[in-house]
Amino acid sequence: MPKTLEGIGCPFCGCSCDDVRVIVSDDEKKILEVENACAIGTEIFLQATNHERITKPRIRQPDGNVKEISYDEAADYVAKTIMNSKKPLMYGFGSTTCEAQRAAARLMELSGGILDNCASICHGPSLMAFFDNGHPTCTLGVVKNRADVILYWGANPVHAHPRHMARYSTYPFGFFKGNGFLERTVIVVDPRKTDTAGVADYHLQIKQGFDYELFNAFRMVMYGHEQDIPDMVADVPKQSILEVAKILKEAKFGVCFFGMGLTHTKGRNHNVDIAISLMRDLNAVSKWSIMAMRGHFNIAGPNKVWSWTYGFPFCVDLTRGDRAHMNPGETSTIDLAIRDEIDLFINIGTDAAANFPIDAVKHLKKHPWITIDPNLSMAADIADLHIPVGISGVEVSGIVYRMDNVPIQYRKVIDMPEGMLSDEELLDRISDRLEELIQEKVKAEKKKPELISSEPVLCTSHSAPPLNETG
Ligand code: SF4
Repeated sequence: MPKTLEGIGCPFCGCSCDDVRVIVSDDEKKILEVENACAIGTEIFLQATNHERITKPRIRQPDGNVKEISYDEAADYVAKTIMNSKKPLMYGFGSTTCEAQRAAARLMELSGGILDNCASICHGPSLMAFFDNGHPTCTLGVVKNRADVILYWGANPVHAHPRHMARYSTYPFGFFKGNGFLERTVIVVDPRKTDTAGVADYHLQIKQGFDYELFNAFRMVMYGHEQDIPDMVADVPKQSILEVAKILKEAKFGVCFFGMGLTHTKGRNHNVDIAISLMRDLNAVSKWSIMAMRGHFNIAGPNKVWSWTYGFPFCVDLTRGDRAHMNPGETSTIDLAIRDEIDLFINIGTDAAANFPIDAVKHLKKHPWITIDPNLSMAADIADLHIPVGISGVEVSGIVYRMDNVPIQYRKVIDMPEGMLSDEELLDRISDRLEELIQEKVKAEKKKPELISSEPVLCTSHSAPPLNETG
């Protein structure tokens, strides 16, 4: 008898819908039907079992062909490659569980490398603006129950987060919004006439790259300087700005959802910074929250896990052991790659080869490239070693942080193909092997005849003062 599983989490976009119903075969090996998910989510589940899977690690041979190896051999290869590298970098994590992200932190601490996630190329600017300016926010449940004005800025949820409007923001019947969309006003700011703009009450068709100017115009209204606003700001007529500003001010509970249209145009983190400032201004007369439209179903996860571990959400430099530091531009993946500072690249739960600038890929590809991913991808195709793992949220349980930073326990719905490992199990196996190699190295070094002492010598006869007196 097929089994019906309720309350399953969808492993695709940042909506992290946890109300999916999945019908599986009685041997729990095949997904038969998916209910409640959008078209993308449904396909993610169905494809998990309906296409040919790579179930064994594959290493590239000198002649260019690939050869299947065991997981132990793969773990040994990765650990030895780490031992031989000066600055390894592990990047990705959009499609992994928090447990795997924690295991990756252990591995890169042992390796003395860099840990980075997709925020580095998506909502990193948002996180930097949150550091600088704080941000008033709330959960998606609060949005559903209270929001009467929804502002989408540089985001197109109809395509990127298909159930966002239906489940959280615009259409659902909330506790205080019993008439759903009839009680809400939707405003879209976007240079394109997107499908989201098509269903909005107002569409401000902004000139691309002029978001900061338009935020400034709204802030001028808030400070009573509307007479100084020019007739057009960022291609938006003054009259529309005044009309929308009135709606923003009169909202009982407003929410600004912003996407990569804001974080990846001219201004980047400064755009988010001024958006937060506008929220602060609005909060003097109304009630407003702001939230990033995070892309992957658990891309908020590494930001949380590494923040509580190291204090930094992305671009975490562990080259000094556990004395982590973060400096986007210096310790961010693309910048490190373009400067050719990385001599081992581990791509996990994302496709860096398809998304990075070609110069970054070319530099990374000069050195060993390892891809950890359930599926074939460009990053798997060009890798020296591709290690397939179980699909998080389908074959692997774990914790996931939704775009509003609410943690959700995802359950697996089917078993992994026999013999496969989850990301977490694989990373732990590599760390265990790396610890063994480090111990072996330490022992071997102790056995060497000591011609010169390896211990630091404290020199007392020199006139130079001890370090702590030099300031
Ligand atoms: S909206 Fe996103 S999380 Fe929800 S079902 Fe669709 S793809 Fe999955």
